[in-house]
Amino acid sequence: MICPKLDELETDTLDPTRIEMVSNGTWAGVIAMNLQVHVSCGPCNLMVEVDMNKQPPDGKAIGVAFRCGECGRLGGTIISGKPAPHRV
Ligand SMILES: [Zn+2]
Repeated sequence: MICPKLDELETDTLDPTRIEMVSNGTWAGVIAMNLQVHVSCGPCNLMVEVDMNKQPPDGKAIGVAFRCGECGRLGGTIISGKPAPHRV
């Protein structure tokens, strides 16, 4: 498990039947689901959108905590869907 043979690893990666769904809990998953993440700080009245392209794709997006750069408090994380085109 620790040292998989390189040949096997490549075969696994290229076999489309073995590609797993991106975990919803990672940044890659959040991006794939077209969600956006904001961090708010009540005392500072701040609301900042997280630049997900700067986050590690495999990193946990759900439950992550951001700290306010102004006051140092932990901000509230808000995950929302991007506005979709209106469908009739
Ligand atoms: Zn603050």
